[in-house]
Amino acid sequence: MPAPDEALVVIDVQNDFCPGGALAVPGGDEIVPGINALMAEFAAVILTQDWHPADHASFASQHAGKAPFETVEMPYGEQVLWPDHCVQGAPGAAFHPDLDTERAQLIIRKGFHREIDSYSAFFENDRTTPTGLEGYLRTRGINRLTLVGLATDFCVNYSALDAARLGFEVTVREDLCRAIDLEGSLAAAREAMRKAGVRLEGRG
Ligand SMILES: [Zn+2]
Repeated sequence: MPAPDEALVVIDVQNDFCPGGALAVPGGDEIVPGINALMAEFAAVILTQDWHPADHASFASQHAGKAPFETVEMPYGEQVLWPDHCVQGAPGAAFHPDLDTERAQLIIRKGFHREIDSYSAFFENDRTTPTGLEGYLRTRGINRLTLVGLATDFCVNYSALDAARLGFEVTVREDLCRAIDLEGSLAAAREAMRKAGVRLEGRG
């Protein structure tokens, strides 16, 4: 029987993050069957969805002379610039067609403010503007989270760190995540998560 205080949080399993998408994470689609199977073990299933306006400030196309994967200084700190991705309502922003979205009890959309990105499911990249997910979990009495999805070193990592900081017990199933791994970002993310007390499981 699934424990009532435990939730599965599926991060950004969307077309643009899968092979063929605008910001494809290598092997991003391989994790979908395993995530679908894992859903049955949880009383609560929550999906997140990266959801940007077409002129989002995280897109390199909005910064003259900048290319994807370069960085800029934003008021809230350094921001990696991405190819245009997960534009609201576009096919790339849709969940992977094989993801069992019918099991989701909540879908958290993030990154919809033009001027600020949101890697984490809990806070935008200023680390203070909430998405509302914390309140949802607390009012449901959920205090243990398992995170899966894309990408390990960005949105999964930021979500796990915020969840740990907020006092949730956090497990990341690495076998059901895939990474972008930009200049050592995967190793740095694993180190940061471990330090924060996040349990890393399932690494092949
Ligand atoms: Zn994004």
